[in-house]
Amino acid sequence: MWTVLALLAVSAAIILAWLWWRRGRELQELRRVLASAREEASALRQSVALNQTQEEARLQALLNSMGEGVLLLDERSRVAFANDSFRRLFNITSEVRGRTVLETVRLAEVQEMVTRARVQGSVWGYELELPGLDRRCLQLNAAVVQNGGSGEQGVIVVFHDLTAQKRLENARKEFVANVSHELRTPLSVIKGYVETLIDGARNDPAVQLRFLQTIARHADRLTYLIEDLLTLSQLESGGIALNLQRVDLRAQAARVAEDFAVRAAERQMHIANQVPENLTARADADRLQQVLVNLADNAIKYGERGTAVTIGARALPEDKLEMWVHNEGPGIPGEALARVFERFYRVDKARSREQGGTGLGLAIVKHIVQSHGGEVRVESRPHGGATFFFTLPKADPPALPLGEQRAD
Ligand code: ADP
Repeated sequence: MWTVLALLAVSAAIILAWLWWRRGRELQELRRVLASAREEASALRQSVALNQTQEEARLQALLNSMGEGVLLLDERSRVAFANDSFRRLFNITSEVRGRTVLETVRLAEVQEMVTRARVQGSVWGYELELPGLDRRCLQLNAAVVQNGGSGEQGVIVVFHDLTAQKRLENARKEFVANVSHELRTPLSVIKGYVETLIDGARNDPAVQLRFLQTIARHADRLTYLIEDLLTLSQLESGGIALNLQRVDLRAQAARVAEDFAVRAAERQMHIANQVPENLTARADADRLQQVLVNLADNAIKYGERGTAVTIGARALPEDKLEMWVHNEGPGIPGEALARVFERFYRVDKARSREQGGTGLGLAIVKHIVQSHGGEVRVESRPHGGATFFFTLPKADPPALPLGEQRAD
């Protein structure tokens, strides 16, 4: 009996010890599993954080590559992010994160727009002119955005710079208005004289001739205007291919002097060719002729009666040549110097029209010279006449015939 009891006690002790040992193992295993789970969770957290940072960096790079300015505001309407274009647009060099809209751009309109976007959900196509001399024009779009999973509402504002587009639009409108005006004036003169002839003036031969001469003059003006407009539009659209060749500048100036000899003599003027020998440009001879004709025509029209018009040229460094046409006379007022190359700009509108000017001559000159890679400029002093300069590329020296090639 005691033996059985002792055996039972020993067995129970063995079972208990085994159970204790197993629990210890299980606890150890559990601890190991927990530690490894903790490690995995931490690795996962790190990888999520890394992915988030990479994602953010990618998003920022994308936003910074945009031409539009982007401003992201948090739920308190403070700057959370501003891209590079936004900074350029508003000339911002310091950190703007955390600032209010007003502190950032100093424009109450933008703040108002953000408030409206919060109420309406979005505001599209709001146009704004920035204060300052360059009168920049912006289009703004704003929309409320949900901030991650927190449900907080931020606002994204996109700034699109419309300045260049607006300027182009205005230039086009101004051009159409100018062309209409230029066409209407000679047309109404022609119509008026034709109606007077129909009404009976044709019966008086002296009046008839005078009226017909006026009609012919205005018809010519219309023709010149349309020719100049066509030339300008071809030049602007790149529709004229330049036939570049070696052009001797002295010979070119001599041709212009000859063509204008009669017209110059009518005003007791003459053209002096002061271009040195052996200056050759790489240019389209017909287009260069057109430049010189337009400049010489102006020099005779606006120069002082009884004086000389001179055409000169010289070599410049960097394989360039400079040519000029100078006339004596009242010259061009300082404030007009920067504008005379604009289409339809005239210092004295009445005088230009009276002389058959279209107001496009210098715009054509500028386009032709620029299409050769050159530049135009004008110098003038009150009563000191005017000099129009332009540059052209120098022609390469002619290839020496075989046998005459230099040994070096
Ligand atoms: P226009 O057909 O009126 O001559 P241009 O484009 O050739 O048009 O010239 C623009 C304006 O520049 C002229 O109307 C004139 O006021 C001024 N201008 C051009 N050349 C001269 C010059 N040599 N001397 C004085 N004014 C000039």
